[in-house]
This record gives sequence, C-alpha cells and structure tokens, in this order.
Amino acid sequence: MQEALLTQHPYIKVALPVPMRTLFDYKVPKAIALRHDLQPGMRVKVPFGKSSRLGVIVALSDTSDWNPEEVKPLTSLHDKQPVITPELMALCEWAARYYHHPIGDVVFHALPVLLRKGENAEFRTENWWFTTATSQTFDVQQLSRAPRQQDFLKAVQQHPNGLSQQAASVLDLAPAAGKSLEEKGLLRREPRAFNKAGEKHTHQTQVPPTLNAEQAAAIDSLLEHRQHFHVSLLDGVTGSGKTEVFLRLIEQCIKEDKQVLVMVPEIGLTPQTLKRFEVRFNTDIVLMHSNMNDRERLDAWLLAANGHAKIIIGTRSAVFVPAPKLGLMVIDEEHDASYKQHEKFRYHARDLAVKRAQNLNIPVLLASATPSYESLTNALQKRFSWLKLRQRAGDAHIPKMERVDLRGQTLVHGFSETALSNMKLALERKEQVLIFLNRRGYAPTLMCHQCGWIATCDHCDVNLTVHKRANKLHCHHCDSQKALIHQCPDCQSEELFTVGEGTEQLETQLNTLFKDTPILRIDRDSTQRKSAMTKLTQKIHEHDQAILIGTQMLAKGHHFPNVTLVVIMDADAGLFSSDFRGMERTAQLITQVAGRAGRAKKPGHVLLQTYHPDHAAIECLCNLGYEHFAIDGLAERKSLSLPPFYHQVIVRAESANEQEAMQLLNALKNDLTPMLSPDVYMVGPYAAIIVRKAGQHRALISIKSASRAPLHQATDWITQWLEQATKQHKIRFAIDVDPLETY
Ligand code: ADP
Ligand code: ZN
Ligand code: ZN
Repeated sequence: MQEALLTQHPYIKVALPVPMRTLFDYKVPKAIALRHDLQPGMRVKVPFGKSSRLGVIVALSDTSDWNPEEVKPLTSLHDKQPVITPELMALCEWAARYYHHPIGDVVFHALPVLLRKGENAEFRTENWWFTTATSQTFDVQQLSRAPRQQDFLKAVQQHPNGLSQQAASVLDLAPAAGKSLEEKGLLRREPRAFNKAGEKHTHQTQVPPTLNAEQAAAIDSLLEHRQHFHVSLLDGVTGSGKTEVFLRLIEQCIKEDKQVLVMVPEIGLTPQTLKRFEVRFNTDIVLMHSNMNDRERLDAWLLAANGHAKIIIGTRSAVFVPAPKLGLMVIDEEHDASYKQHEKFRYHARDLAVKRAQNLNIPVLLASATPSYESLTNALQKRFSWLKLRQRAGDAHIPKMERVDLRGQTLVHGFSETALSNMKLALERKEQVLIFLNRRGYAPTLMCHQCGWIATCDHCDVNLTVHKRANKLHCHHCDSQKALIHQCPDCQSEELFTVGEGTEQLETQLNTLFKDTPILRIDRDSTQRKSAMTKLTQKIHEHDQAILIGTQMLAKGHHFPNVTLVVIMDADAGLFSSDFRGMERTAQLITQVAGRAGRAKKPGHVLLQTYHPDHAAIECLCNLGYEHFAIDGLAERKSLSLPPFYHQVIVRAESANEQEAMQLLNALKNDLTPMLSPDVYMVGPYAAIIVRKAGQHRALISIKSASRAPLHQATDWITQWLEQATKQHKIRFAIDVDPLETY
C-alpha cells in the first residue's frame, strides 16, 4: 500500500512565499514517503537556492516538467494535518489566477503569521494551578506572614476546577508565590492546551425584540435560502435593524450546528459589536483582527479550524479562516473599502467570500446602509436578492438632512451661525452633537508668511500635516515624521502659520467655544492605544451632553443613542474628486455619518455645510436619499462605460528613477497594442495623481472590457511581459484587478 503511494506520487508541487508566479517541484524521499502521509496543504521545508524555505504542498504529482537534475528532494514535512484545507486551497488557486498574483504569496497570506514562520499548528500549553491533598486540610492562616502566598492559595481554593496562569495574572497573583506554594506541596501545576473552547456558557441571553414587518420579510427570505449558495443584499438605512436581522439568521445556523463567519471592516469592529454577539449567544465566539498579537490570532484560527468556535468575527483576512462546518458568511458594511487589500495581494474580501460560498454551496449575506455600486448592480440584475429595510427600527426615525449655505457667511472656526445655534440648543437639551471632519491632525499645511515656503514630504509629492500635540510634521501617505519646526528653513523667518483645519485644531477651538462641555475626539491618532476606543465609548455613554469630533472612523457601525445633531463641516470635500468613485464614496460617507443622528427615541438632525448647496449631487442626496443617488450614479457609469458595467484592471509600475516607470509602461503599451483584442480598451500610461510616494515614481495603465475573458487574457499577457521585462530593470510592478483606486 505504502509502496503504491510512493510510486504514485514521487513529486510534490510546492507554493513558496517568493514573488514568482509558479509552483516549485520537489522529490519526495523514500524515507519520508514511507513514514508520512503527504497531503496538499501541509507545510514542508525545502531547499531553495543556497538556503531552505518553508513552503506549502499544493499538489502531489506523478510527473515533473522540470529538468530532473534540478528537482531536489524536500527536507522535511512540517505538519500532520493540512494547514490549508482542500477547500481553501481551491480558493487560493482561484484567487491567484483571478488576481494574477503569485500563488505562493496567496497561500502564505491565507495563513496566520505564526504558521508562515513555521510555528506548529497546535494550541500553546498553559500552566494551570490545582490544590493538593495537603492544601485541602491546610489552614491558610498559617501563611499570614506571606500574604502573597496566602492570596494565591485562597484564589486557587476558590477554583475547584483549577486556575489558569492567565487567570492568575488577571487576578494579580504573584508567580513567585505560586512557585513557593508548589515547593511546599500546597499547590500543583499542570500544563494544559490553551483552548478556550468548552468553557461553559451559561449566561442569560438577551431576549431579542419583536421584528417589524420589513425585518420579518427579510428574515423569511434569508431562512428560505440558508441551505444553498445564495447571495442576499440586506440594504437597510442606518438603524433599520440589519444587525438584528442577521443575528436571527446566525441563531438559526448555530442551532443547526453550523459555523458562521462574520466579516467587519478594519476599524468597524467596535467593543459594542462584540458585546451584541456575546449577550445574544451562549456559544464560542472568536475574534480575528489587526489589534491582536500573532499568538492570539493563531489561537483564534485553531479554534475555528477545529470547529469549536461557532462564530468567527474578523476583518479582511478572516475570509481565509478554516472552518469545517462553515454554513454562512455575513459581510457587514459590505461597501467598505477596507475589504480590499491595497498592496501586494490586492484581493477584495467580499468578492472572495462570495466565491468561497459558491464553492461551499452556502449562503452569503451582504449588509449595508449604503451598498456599493457593484452590489447594487448585482441586486438590480437579480443575481443577488435585494432585501430592503427603509424604516428605522423601534421608535427611531430617519434624521432630517439640511444644507447650510456657507457662501458669504461669517464663520467662527469654520462653523456657520446655524450650526453653532443648533449645537447650543442640543447641548442645552442635554443631548450630544457629532462634528464630522475627515481630516486628522492640527492642519494639513504649514507655510511661511515671508517667503511662501510650504512643508512637504521628502519622499512624496504632498504637504506634511501639522500635529501640534505630538509636536510633529507627519506625512499621511508614507508615514514619515519629523519634528515640528518654528523657523522657515528657506528664509529663517519665524512667521510660520498653518493653513486649513484638522480634528485636533477643531478640538482646541471647541474647548474654548464650549468650556463646560466634554469634547471627545475620535480619530486614528486618539485611538492608537489598544483600549482607547473602549474608554472613549465609555465616556460617550457616561455623559449626557457632549461634543464628539470624528473622522470617517466615527461613520462605522457606532451606536450613540444620545447623538441628535450631526454637523458635517465640509460636505464639498469629495465633490470634485478626479476618481470616478469619488461621488459614490462621498455619498456613502455623508449618509453613514448622518446615520449616527437620532438612532434612539430622540429625533435626529443633520447639517451639511456647503459652498455648493445647489450641486445636483448634494441636493439629490439630501432630498431623495442614497438609493436614488446611487441609481443616478449607476446610469452615469453605464453611459461612460465605467465599472461595474465594464471590468477594469490597472497595471502599476514604480521606480526610484523619475522616468523608468513611465518608460516601462510605454514599452508595454507598444508591444501590447497590436495584441489587444478589439473589445479591450487601454488608457495610459499616465502618472499617478501623487506621482512620487515613499520615494517611488508611479505610473499606470488602465485596461477595461465589458467581458471578463478577454480582459483576463490580456492581463495574463501583460503579467508575463512585465515579469520578463523587469528581470533586468529593477522596477516594481503590480496588477490590480477590480481596482478601487484608479490614480
Ligand atoms: P443597523 O444594523 O441597521 O444599524 P441595528 O440592528 O443596530 O441597526 O438596530 C438599531 C437599534 O434598533 C438597535 O438598538 C437595535 O437593538 C434596535 N432594534 C432592532 N430591531 C428592532 C425591533 N424590531 N424593535 C425594536 N428595536 C429594534
Ligand atoms: Zn520663509
Ligand atoms: Zn511621504
């Protein structure tokens, strides 16, 4: 039998984390083949060049196309079980083809960081403390002169099933005290696999509200389609009870012993979201997001992989989590751009989730108050079911949107008279006000009054942002920082002044305008520390009246019941974007921010400050709402042959040298033009809007087509051409399929 196996598959094809779009062949040494059952998805150590590498077996094979001399034997097998299940391997292979990305990079991206580095796919062990026969009859008073030991022993005595080391640290028990007790024979230690599963969940679960008619209709449709592949778009205005709907669906899936993957945007995973799941379900819930350390992520991954975790809540990369009983995927805020990875492997987690669900024949639910134009088109074309919730749930009502004409008005720190008087009224009623300004830092520009010098980034073609509190000049594009200066480097004048306004400045100014009101700023700077967001949310809930200042972070999923007024400082910010998605994004952002107003019993009111009150887009959004706005926008996209009606691929090149990237793409264009099928259109090469970023000069070519096949073919050709061409030049290139950024 084993001999047969051996002769059957003398070769393996291995994915390695290298930037080459190919698999690598290795021989299976007899010794390994006899002792182990090699399977695709297992990690292997293999020789590569002069060193060795960790790779993942993609396939077992009878043959190799390689020159037999070049096929080396693998060094060792790393796993007993595949770390990439066959289902996920199929998804990775599909993604590598679809996104024209090196398979090795895709496969490694699908693994938790520690597994990429060779860690065993096993739970870490942790010490647990237990009482001994001696300690059971021991009088703790005898330890009165060693209070730390006394505390330790008492704590363990209170836990007849043992106390984990982690719990001991949470209780602030001194490890040295534990050791002393162990030496005295009063405690014993035992290592156990760190595996949170199986903890008894016995808390009282919250009784869900009675669904309204729209919610009930949505859930009926979702339940009907829960046993097969089906995509539903839950398109519900902010506060319409979308979460409530998918909690019901999840409840049903859990009853059927399925696992559920809930995807949330990068920073949308608020403590509030988790809490809502916890109070609702007596089951194992794991989180996977970027604020966790590598070990925590691996533990969560293992709990999902062994089927213990019933609900997995995660950000983008969680789309690759193994879950043997996966029965449903929910993509919350499906329009959110953070589902698309903007570097290296440029996949879209929503699109991959749909593909994965199709492979597994399970349903996917996409939820949003402002669906992406892509998903709306799929709903309009009946590929997705379109479930609409147009009423707010409970006693809440849709907030009133009002434009405030800024033309010719005297502004106080950027606020119109109307905004200020409404803010005062809301605060007097002991309600909260949310000010939206999508620009963090103190000011976007630092300038010299004498000579006009402007502080710019050394590595990018952009101005540096002033951060007064941190005393820094910060580039928001490459993250480089320098100390804030007070003298012009060109003319030595000390008359430097800031232009424009960011959230930090707004905070300072509001503190002087509203002295006795708590002012809370929520942006990436104020929430950097791990528990900062939890603390800020707590503060918001503690106070009656308060002013919250925030960037787009505040737009996501938060529920602040006492916010009744939202002021959008600069509604025009996204109106004149050169990106064709600018309008869609602006409308989503404004609608989401506006949706924070009046989410509970008190009515909400939204003020949009604008210099273009008659701009068709702003007028449409205020009077007719997002759906109408989006349908108009889609008609325009169609007439201009833009996505989602045409599919797009962007080819990017970057070089340290000013011309090389553009020259490379020009050469590509020359060779490509005669090859291109007539239904594929090419634009470019053109320079990126911010030409130089992090020291790299950037150029692009866009190709598009109404059908996928010829576009895919052209992209294949381009990828091969670029791989050849960049062997000599050291120019980086990237293929971006279904790009969200086109400049
Ligand atoms: P969304 O996800 O659409 O923003 P949520 O599900 O968070 O909406 O619901 C908004 C608020 O309304 C929450 O506090 C929720 O508990 C409540 N809610 C949802 N559905 C109902 C209902 N049918 N009756 C009463 N309250 C509800
Ligand atoms: Zn100067
Ligand atoms: Zn920079």
